[in-house]
Amino acid sequence: MRGYDVAVIGGGIVGLALADAWLARHPGTRVAVFDKEPDLAAHASGRNSGVLHAGFYYAPDSLKAQLTRRGNQMLREFCTERGVDVRETGKVVVATAPEQLPRLDDLYARGQANGVPLEMVDEAALHELEPLARTHKRALWSPTTAVADPVAVVEALAQRVRERGGEVHLGTPVLDAGPGRLRTPYQQFAVGHIINAAGLYADRVAHWFGVGEEYRMLPFKGLYWYSSWPPGRLQRHVYPVPDPRNPFLGVHLTVTVGGRTKVGPTAIPSLWREDYGGVRGFDAREVWDVARSYPGFVRSPHHDVPGLVRTELPKYSRRYLVGQAAALVPSVRAEDFREKGRIGVRAQLLHVPTGRLEMDFVVRPGEGSTHVLNAVSPAWTSSLAMAEWICDNVVSA
Ligand SMILES: Cc1cc2nc3c(=O)[nH]c(=O)nc-3n(C[C@H](O)[C@H](O)[C@H](O)COP(=O)(O)OP(=O)(O)OC[C@H]3O[C@@H](n4cnc5c(N)ncnc54)[C@H](O)[C@@H]3O)c2cc1C
Repeated sequence: MRGYDVAVIGGGIVGLALADAWLARHPGTRVAVFDKEPDLAAHASGRNSGVLHAGFYYAPDSLKAQLTRRGNQMLREFCTERGVDVRETGKVVVATAPEQLPRLDDLYARGQANGVPLEMVDEAALHELEPLARTHKRALWSPTTAVADPVAVVEALAQRVRERGGEVHLGTPVLDAGPGRLRTPYQQFAVGHIINAAGLYADRVAHWFGVGEEYRMLPFKGLYWYSSWPPGRLQRHVYPVPDPRNPFLGVHLTVTVGGRTKVGPTAIPSLWREDYGGVRGFDAREVWDVARSYPGFVRSPHHDVPGLVRTELPKYSRRYLVGQAAALVPSVRAEDFREKGRIGVRAQLLHVPTGRLEMDFVVRPGEGSTHVLNAVSPAWTSSLAMAEWICDNVVSA
């Protein structure tokens, strides 16, 4: 039987970042990443907005706060090293009503506490930064928010893992694993330490090890629409003030690395994990599993679930979704946003006993294993810092 010192289940950005960080610390060790898909970046890591978040949304004592600012910096350095383009868009957060201003102030205070460069600007300064955006009295300006092509980043990271001596096995699902062993359709392996970075399936993999039994994954679907505007017309990402009862950031406009404008993503509850449209990935057992989790979530005192459903479901309509973005950028018209983007599904962890969606990254140790259970946004931005933190603080191979 072949063996590895470390095997990573899941070759998204988090799994690759972990293999990369491990190899940087332990050169010459045998490390393999297994991904079930034939191509890299097939799931969230290649289906996101590519926004390098700055790190000002998160409670100062959270892992997100700790790892996002550093992750932003590390990802920039990585992109520079590997020749991956980063567009310095910055980002503005705008208020659409007076009652949002106290929340805008809270965001500013969080940014200060998290050591993130941020500026509160008035309407005139906003106009200078992004002439298309509108706000009520004040807006937040985040100069360190940027954008890159998420697929290009993942491919470059896989390349660095290989250069450091790691193996990346695509088209290789892990069917079963436990302490010290892992099985694919082709082979069994003896493994010193297993890292679970399986994204939408991280809960299932963790349960093989008896870890995180109290958790289930709830998938939320993110739709995007691209505009026909000439590249560069919108210069900055434009976000609303988030609703604190809603775990997601609300409909926003982002600029791609090539300068195109897109609206999205939504956070529409989904009935199976890889629900990218059509029946691909449909699995009746999975639908049952997800459906079983919803009643606890719907009754949850922690979130306004009926409100979330009421505001998210209509976003299946392009006109409705684009109409929401027009509150931030009035020149947005539904007829200019007709090109569908690649759908992404958020792997959001539900704490079943309380019906609470976990808002922070969740990482759990297990016997001979480490489990990244809640690599929600902005884990793409935070991945390199998260991997550094996990290798230094959690993994003991
Ligand atoms: C719509 C959307 C927009 C987002 N926007 C942003 C953003 O702008 N900025 C940001 O920082 N973050 C963003 N995020 C979050 C970010 O994309 C994720 O946090 C990040 O990609 C998680 O990476 P991952 O490696 O954990 O997951 P994934 O990319 O899903 O990787 C998990 C991998 O595990 C593999 N796998 C699963 N089970 C097995 C198995 N049994 N055997 C082998 N392989 C397996 C899958 O094939 C997959 O490739 C967004 C997410 C979504 C969905």
